[in-house]
Amino acid sequence: FFIAFEGGDGAGKSTQVQAVADWIRAKGHEVVVTREPGATPIGKRLRAILLDVSSAGLSDRAEALLYAADRAEHVDSVVRPALARGAVVITDRYIDSSVAYQGAGRDLSPTEIARISRWATDGLVPHLTVLLDVSPETARERFTEAPDRLESEPAEFHQRVRAGFLTLAAADPTRYLVVDAGQEPEAVSTVVRHRLDQLLP
Ligand code: C5P
Repeated sequence: FFIAFEGGDGAGKSTQVQAVADWIRAKGHEVVVTREPGATPIGKRLRAILLDVSSAGLSDRAEALLYAADRAEHVDSVVRPALARGAVVITDRYIDSSVAYQGAGRDLSPTEIARISRWATDGLVPHLTVLLDVSPETARERFTEAPDRLESEPAEFHQRVRAGFLTLAAADPTRYLVVDAGQEPEAVSTVVRHRLDQLLP
């Protein structure tokens, strides 16, 4: 069973991923927690390039392809092997992040970005995608560390990213769970657990 958590920076994805992973483990499943970009050795090098402030001149298309390369490596070496042995895989970001950031956020076609991702993953789609939706203003208040390259983008960029995520979720309500991530973390987890209770064996 494959679950993706998506959302803007500061939506609380890592907290929720850990909480839901602990909850699924307690039910007796093997759980693999992973993330994009940077879950593999090659991915860590790609992540460093993508997030370094000195990569400011990176072209939009090159950026999109580096994310796709990270994803291809991630799916081949981490996600598919874990799914094949029956583990529940939870990823912090997946295809939708590319469609939202490199598509809606940058000036690239979301359809083209989705196509590149489909090729990169050989069509692997999550059973459930949890979208943690929060306004960029609320999210920004949560940053505690120095902003990475993306977090330094203007507010309009993050508004476009948020809208990009919501458009994806609206197109497929059965596969998406949209949660108001402005709530307390425990309230968010409760909503996620409720949906998973209906889906997990
Ligand atoms: O979620 P995490 O903090 O690991 O993401 C790292 C950075 O990469 C974030 O600033 C996020 O906005 C950015 N990112 C992106 N496009 C993606 C995935 C992540 O711009 N496809």
